Amino acid sequence: MAKFNENFLELKESYLFSEVAKRVSAFKEQHPERSVIRLGIGDVTLPLGKTVVEAMRSAAEEMGQAETFRGYGPEQGYDFLRTAIQKHYKAFGVELDADEIFVSDGAKSDTGNITDLFSKDNTVLIPDPVYPVYVDTNTMNGRNIIYINGTAENDFLPMPDRSVHADLIYICSPNNPTGACYNRTQLRKWVDYALENDAVILFDSAYESFVSDESLPHSIYEIAGAESCAVEFCSLSKTAGFTGTRCGYTIVPKAITAKSADGREMILNKMWNRRQCTKFNGVPYVIQRAAEAVFSDQGMAEARAMTDSYMENARIISNTMEELKIRYTGGINSPYIWFECPFGMNSWDFFDFLLEKAGVVGTPGAGFGKNGDNWFRLTAFNSRENTAEAMKRFRTLLSANG
Ligand SMILES: *Cc1c(COP(=O)(O)O)cnc(C)c1O
Repeated sequence: MAKFNENFLELKESYLFSEVAKRVSAFKEQHPERSVIRLGIGDVTLPLGKTVVEAMRSAAEEMGQAETFRGYGPEQGYDFLRTAIQKHYKAFGVELDADEIFVSDGAKSDTGNITDLFSKDNTVLIPDPVYPVYVDTNTMNGRNIIYINGTAENDFLPMPDRSVHADLIYICSPNNPTGACYNRTQLRKWVDYALENDAVILFDSAYESFVSDESLPHSIYEIAGAESCAVEFCSLSKTAGFTGTRCGYTIVPKAITAKSADGREMILNKMWNRRQCTKFNGVPYVIQRAAEAVFSDQGMAEARAMTDSYMENARIISNTMEELKIRYTGGINSPYIWFECPFGMNSWDFFDFLLEKAGVVGTPGAGFGKNGDNWFRLTAFNSRENTAEAMKRFRTLLSANG
């Protein structure tokens, strides 16, 4: 009989969102008359921009004509899109070669797939609280994980500990779930730590476009030296509403190497290319044309209008936290607001309390790691009206109980 990958037995039951759904449907069954507002959504809700849809439509037309039909494309992505991404990075002052850019079907798959390039015998450093994909993909490979704590004391921006060695380091900034965002000085320390440890940083910048504070970096390559130690994952999912359309890009600079057992310096860019050419046949032409349109002036303006709209919701939520003097992070350069549960409650108790008393759904912090036990995540992805109504109920509930 085929032998199973035992590492999968080590995976923790991912019960966060199913448990949330279960409790919400039980509540609705008991209280069919009550209105429920979901601020737990981790998915965009605004439709694609006009420019993007038009680009998809005309690319679809091309696919239906013999003269312009396209079959297999380059695994790394079409030049037109790689060039558009290159220009996008120039705006951050970052120069990339086109062959350092790999177009993908999203950041989730690539943050997981990149682990193919690294031996099982690497120590992986992962912040807690965390986006669960980093933990689960490394667990599937049987790698040793060490955690660093994000807490109120470090504003949920854990910094490297020089007494601990790591080979692979996951950083997500602006962060999901905490909304916290590293500044240049802090990222400088991470890059220095990675260079000292010959480690590779796996930098998730899926929320890059939510950064509005001009002093904060959009890309880790804004920090000198990162080009020789960091891989960056980006996505149009949150930037331009592509969660269902699927397109992202991964930057693997040619200067990054990893050691083989016989002492050779392997160039990660070459090996990632090899991996992609073997296991991936590229993103659909129509979708790459849509992605190209996002990077046009008009497309960028439409994407900015979406993020601005979400950020107005985020402001409504963070203003409420300010008013009620609740400790929180995020909401300024991120669509997530992460706050301390009031009345010393743990996050599941607070989940029930908020649902039962206010009909508002959020996400218990415990689902993102032990440092989230007393914290709670709200998102800016619902409508303006619902967000405002949810915060009105939230204020009333807390004032009545405070
Ligand atoms: C939403 C999200 C992504 C984007 O994933 P896609 O696969 O591109 O949709 C990546 N990282 C984090 C932390 C996210 O929250």
